[in-house]
Amino acid sequence: MNTRSIRFRLTVWYAALLAGLLLVFGATSYFGLAGYLEWSLRDSLENQAQQIAVSHLADVGLTGEDYVIGEIEEHYAPEINSRFVRVTRGDGSILYASGIPEDESFDPTGLGAATLPSDEPFTRKVFLPDGKGGLLLYTMPFTARDGSCYTIEIGAPFHAIESVLRGLLFTLAVGMPIIILLSIAGGYFVMRRALEPVNALTHSAERITSSNLGERLPAVNTGDELERLSIALNNMVERLDAAFTHIRRFSADASHELRTPLTVLRGELEELAEQPNLQEESRERIGSALEETDRLSRIVESLLVISRLDAGEARMEKKQFDFAELTAATVEQLRLLAEDKGVSLVSDVEGGGVEVEGDPARLKQIVVNLLDNAIKYTPPDGKVEAKVRRNGSFAILEVKDGGIGIPAEALPHVFERFYRVDKARSRSVGGTGLGLAIVKSICTAHGGDVTVESREGRGSMFQVKLPIVAQE
Ligand code: ADP
Repeated sequence: MNTRSIRFRLTVWYAALLAGLLLVFGATSYFGLAGYLEWSLRDSLENQAQQIAVSHLADVGLTGEDYVIGEIEEHYAPEINSRFVRVTRGDGSILYASGIPEDESFDPTGLGAATLPSDEPFTRKVFLPDGKGGLLLYTMPFTARDGSCYTIEIGAPFHAIESVLRGLLFTLAVGMPIIILLSIAGGYFVMRRALEPVNALTHSAERITSSNLGERLPAVNTGDELERLSIALNNMVERLDAAFTHIRRFSADASHELRTPLTVLRGELEELAEQPNLQEESRERIGSALEETDRLSRIVESLLVISRLDAGEARMEKKQFDFAELTAATVEQLRLLAEDKGVSLVSDVEGGGVEVEGDPARLKQIVVNLLDNAIKYTPPDGKVEAKVRRNGSFAILEVKDGGIGIPAEALPHVFERFYRVDKARSRSVGGTGLGLAIVKSICTAHGGDVTVESREGRGSMFQVKLPIVAQE
């Protein structure tokens, strides 16, 4: 799992926020309910104490204490209602004290004498000894009409409040993690669906290179920011496509335009060289100018080939033919060139069955360029070998030489335009620095590829891979 992905980070943020909010909500509910329950219990204790005081104890001088006891028993039934009622006379003797309630939730026998630190009524929590429960105890001083003083105590077990709060706590403790887990799972799933178009866009954008700028990103019809992004990216690709096309056309046109003046220049120079009364020095200079014109022509021709291939304007024939046969024939054509240089040229070509589909003239150029380089960069008495074989669904052409080789740091650049390891050397052997760039462009245009392996001073091996025609 990528912890830096938007999906992961949003889910974590969202889960943390939800957990925080749920905690605040849980704490507020818990303490709010605790406060409310205690307040309402205290209120009801206070009311009962007031009633006992005003309705029954106020006239104790007239009705007698037994009457008061009977009234309390009758109206408040402390043992049945799980309430504790105790009325203490001013001298500390007990007028009335209720016993253990029916549900035995508390046992007031161990409760100490009534305490009244001031003249004001007050409430406190009392824990009965020996774990016999706890009471919320309201204590109130009262003076009857006849002037006798009493202390009225009303208590109720607070375990009921505690059990309600425990229930709430349990619900929160179990419910909150479940809610958080479900929301994480849901959030992750929703996020995945929402970000799916981003993945699709990324994959398509990765496939677009300068050679397939005609392709477009998939339409994201979500009506949201992603749709806007995909439209913006497609517009950008379109602008790039237009700019690239413009540049390629320009290169192709420029190379094309240069051809004619170069031919004219060449003709003029040749004519000049044939003048009979020419001084030797002038003849030499004209010869050198002719050589440079030739070089220039080769560069312009190569540039034209490359820019046309780039612009997809090169008229590419689509023909099915045997690549092994084409290679063998090309090797024969170059044999003379090799012999002139004292290089032995060997071909190992599988007889037939390596059918490829493409432009034979262009594919021949691949073989010519590679063999030409191999011969150029191999010293006399060296050996150059051309091999064609079939490997799965590919035709493999290998051109191997025992020449000067290519330094490791130059290997990644040899297919770049105008790249030459040793400029002076390339120039002296008539190189343009475009031969391998042409090979690469033709390979790409045929859905193939070219790679090189080389060791300086030991030789090089260029390998071309072209898809073969599937045989039914
Ligand atoms: P060039 O016209 O200069 O040969 P290429 O594009 O054909 O241009 O090759 C680029 C460079 O790669 C050459 O300048 C040369 O340094 C190097 N190179 C190509 N083929 C070979 C080879 N068979 N052996 C050694 N170096 C080579």
